[in-house]
Amino acid sequence: MPKIRKAYKVRLKTNRETESNLICFFGCARFLWNKSLAMNLERLEKGQNILWYTELAFWLRLWKRSDEYGFLKDCPSQVLQQKLMDLDRAFRDCFDRSQPLKRLPVFKRKGTGEGIRFPQGFRIENRRIFLPKIGWVGFHKSREIEGAIKNITITRKADRWYASIQTEQDIEIQNHPCESEIGIDAGIKCFAAFSDGTLVEGVNSFRRHEDTLAREQRKLARKERGSQNWKKQKSKISGLHHIISNVRSDFLHKLSTETSKSHAKVYVEGLNIRGMSASARGTVEEPGRNVSAKAGLNKSILDQGWFEFRRQLDYKLDWQGGSLEEVEYRYSSQSCSCCGHTEKENRRSQAVFVCLACGYEQHADVNAARNILTVGQTGMACGTNRISGRKQKPFRVRASKPAGNRKEVLPVAS
Ligand SMILES: [Zn+2]
Repeated sequence: MPKIRKAYKVRLKTNRETESNLICFFGCARFLWNKSLAMNLERLEKGQNILWYTELAFWLRLWKRSDEYGFLKDCPSQVLQQKLMDLDRAFRDCFDRSQPLKRLPVFKRKGTGEGIRFPQGFRIENRRIFLPKIGWVGFHKSREIEGAIKNITITRKADRWYASIQTEQDIEIQNHPCESEIGIDAGIKCFAAFSDGTLVEGVNSFRRHEDTLAREQRKLARKERGSQNWKKQKSKISGLHHIISNVRSDFLHKLSTETSKSHAKVYVEGLNIRGMSASARGTVEEPGRNVSAKAGLNKSILDQGWFEFRRQLDYKLDWQGGSLEEVEYRYSSQSCSCCGHTEKENRRSQAVFVCLACGYEQHADVNAARNILTVGQTGMACGTNRISGRKQKPFRVRASKPAGNRKEVLPVAS
């Protein structure tokens, strides 16, 4: 039976004492990361071999015994060891030729993307977690935690503390309960258009909060940097950013769960999002056209998280026994899903599609979704890339390929 790893993220109910303990652990872990990283970077510069986990762990034992770095003893050893393993992994990844996008690890700053991981020593009972050197901490339980718990990561975002509980579960890959197949197109006006005619409005959480955010930013600018009021305002803004990201993530998860449960096969366009969101400004000699329009388009694409939606759809379909298929079809927005006539003028505006040959009228994004479905289904196997499935490389790697390497399908002749 295949195993999957699933994480449950819960918000902790911390008090002053737990928080100050956690802040102390975060500080120790950050110090250790930065110190070991500095050591390794220096060695790299001198042309020496860098220190891997075992050597670094040896240094850690020495540092703990010293007067200068004795404070490291306050933090659970395993948390520190996990940090060293992370650094080890980061160096291995950056020297790995198959991951060309990986760069050297960087120094960690206080308060940005920090986390500590407990590999063992924890316990979970009902609505509370026991953490080594901290004790019992309550959490907001939104659902049952299933499977064997592998590790717990604590993170902090906008003054809220979270625990990510990673579990391992056996799943039976059965056949998907439905036989339904569907094509989905990333809309411009709406978030997504389904080939059955459903249009999903995006939350556009960023736009909705944009004005409030701008107002609060202006307030921040008027305050004296570093003052108490400045800090208060700063945390208000980060809270707002946090709300925006929560709203977005909730929307995406609900939509991807629902879609993966009701359709066995989902076809999506192999959309080069990076290309679409590249700057349209052009050069001084040759300024780009429609700069502001494209900037707006980019913003809404990035805001709506189409990429994240696809990622979620991919693994959720996998769990259900379905699959996500990528269709490379360049003319999905121009050809008629009724008769196949392909012409640029078919698309009158961003919203309306009217076929010049047969007069078929449809919402432009729904028409595109229907094309994607047809191309995916009708044996154009060379054009579809199965991106779901365990044996494939992770999606991340595929996405990093330059656009020139992608397979493209020629348009169906009209
Ligand atoms: Zn037509």
